[in-house]
Amino acid sequence: MWGQLAYEFLPISTERRSQILHPFAIPCMQGVLALNVTRGCAHACVYCYARAYPEAPPRGQLMVYENLPARLEAELARMRRRPRAVSLCTATDPFQPFPSLLAVTYQAAQMLLNRGISVTFLTKGFIPDEFVALFARFPDLVRARIGLLSLDPRYHRTFEPGTAPPEVRLENLRRLRLAGIMAGVRHDPVIPGVTDKPEALDRLFAAVRKEGITSVDVGYLYIRPGIAQLLRAELPPEVSRPLLSQFRRGPIEEVAASSHTQLLPPEIRVRSFYNIRQAAREHGIVPILCRCKNPDLRADRCQGSKDLAYRTPPRRARQLSLSLT
Ligand code: SF4
Repeated sequence: MWGQLAYEFLPISTERRSQILHPFAIPCMQGVLALNVTRGCAHACVYCYARAYPEAPPRGQLMVYENLPARLEAELARMRRRPRAVSLCTATDPFQPFPSLLAVTYQAAQMLLNRGISVTFLTKGFIPDEFVALFARFPDLVRARIGLLSLDPRYHRTFEPGTAPPEVRLENLRRLRLAGIMAGVRHDPVIPGVTDKPEALDRLFAAVRKEGITSVDVGYLYIRPGIAQLLRAELPPEVSRPLLSQFRRGPIEEVAASSHTQLLPPEIRVRSFYNIRQAAREHGIVPILCRCKNPDLRADRCQGSKDLAYRTPPRRARQLSLSLT
């Protein structure tokens, strides 16, 4: 286990009784099904929307669905048409460092890949070698995304305390790409005033480019009541107060399954994205502003969803025409 959460989480084995595969709530992932191998996530990111649900287990509680492979097999056998792709992570991270959890993730991924079903995931954990070896057998079916916002150890300790350190995530990229697996970077959620400072962006993009990455998908922090509560409870007040104050006058929009998501005011996102674009350009990287999470701006379809080659719904008519250049 990474960081100070080593002794805080002890995975408990539990039985999953409900449906394993469910639709993805993000518009550009229509047609992709999702599964979660746990309830709770030991990565304990302070901005996590999944941890903010009222029914989410409290910090320190992690339940691993050990019957998931058996139930998944039964569900797949009942399906008239097999799904084209399954995401391993909508409300958890599939690569948290616990053997029982990794065994479930491995069995689920293997089962899907053996049936010709694409597997996609976003992780901030360490991907063990046996997974890289498995994925290398199915390079056309695996689409990996590595979450990476900053190389700063203080940011890591404060905002993502249980995740793998940034250098381990860069290693993931290297190992996956060397094995011939399509792997990219998701730079999300940008924390305004914290992760979007020019020097921090310069260091990050230099490191990412060294791994051969030429585009990154970008999303911004958004809040809902539960997320704001987590930020207040888990960040020092001198960090949470100025951060939350930036949301004043931010629009309320529909993001994923929630119609009551507060975004940063558009001018903050536009200014910040300008900085990101400038820094990325210096290293030959194209940043793509995620339109599912910025429905009020002229944003784009992420590379992550394009890699899955799915049709997406058209843009909404009422998007603001603020220039992103
Ligand atoms: S890794 Fe993902 S699911 Fe886990 S706490 Fe962080 S944001 Fe939430």
